[in-house]
Amino acid sequence: MTGPTGDAHYDAGLREFRHAPGTVMIHLALSDLPDWRAGAELRDYAYVTIAPTLDAMAKTYQQPMAGLLPEEPMIVVGQPSAIDPSRAPEGKHTLWLQVRMVPAEIAGDAAGQIDARDWEAALAPFCERALDIVERHAPGLRGKILGMRCVSPRDLEADNPNLVGGDQVCGSHHLSQNAIFRPVRGHADGTTPLDGLYHTGAAVWPGASTGAGPGTLLGKMLG
Ligand SMILES: Cc1cc2nc3c(=O)[nH]c(=O)nc-3n(C[C@H](O)[C@H](O)[C@H](O)COP(=O)(O)OP(=O)(O)OC[C@H]3O[C@@H](n4cnc5c(N)ncnc54)[C@H](O)[C@@H]3O)c2cc1C
Repeated sequence: MTGPTGDAHYDAGLREFRHAPGTVMIHLALSDLPDWRAGAELRDYAYVTIAPTLDAMAKTYQQPMAGLLPEEPMIVVGQPSAIDPSRAPEGKHTLWLQVRMVPAEIAGDAAGQIDARDWEAALAPFCERALDIVERHAPGLRGKILGMRCVSPRDLEADNPNLVGGDQVCGSHHLSQNAIFRPVRGHADGTTPLDGLYHTGAAVWPGASTGAGPGTLLGKMLG
């Protein structure tokens, strides 16, 4: 069966290309940076990642793969104003929480606490779960919150159609669609079966990040 390019191998690869589970983002305006229990020096970093064990990380991948809200999501905490004070009004701070990973379609809650099965209703209680986790590592965080905006995986996709189901990396990076297989074996350089048509961005090797790797490599290749 062929598809858009008429090349059976390439078209099948695109059909089988699968997205990673999604992300919830929480943006916070704060009166001060968090007081990290692990040490005050953590206030100086751009990122603080909360992922206590490999087991917890495995669960936070497997549970959304089964359609479940994870009981203990992994959280990447961004502290932009710790590095660049212009990211907040004088004396204040901003924080973002990248809460990973979540199902685009909610079939249940691994913790058995959230009954909602759509993101409109599940977002607020799920964000409270994430704040509870950060609060354990930075007691008193909630008392510093001046404002908060929660972004569901559906919101991310509505903003950017590349983020299917809120997948922030534009396609899972598991081995069978990474490196020379990304997006399809034989086309990791951004070429397609159609002369003059190129594919670039996070779905192409070397994949997602703000480092612009795929476009840079394609630009170099095309000279
Ligand atoms: C919430 C979140 C957090 C992230 N955190 C990090 C991080 O901390 N560090 C890091 O390195 N990377 C991070 N990333 C990943 C990184 O942002 C992406 O990998 C990178 O931006 C991908 O670049 P791109 O050019 O491929 O696509 P994008 O940056 O997604 O740009 C694609 C553009 O195309 C537009 N578009 C899509 N479909 C269409 C269409 N049909 N017609 C017209 N326009 C269209 C989109 O609106 C978008 O503007 C994060 C991503 C997200 C979503």
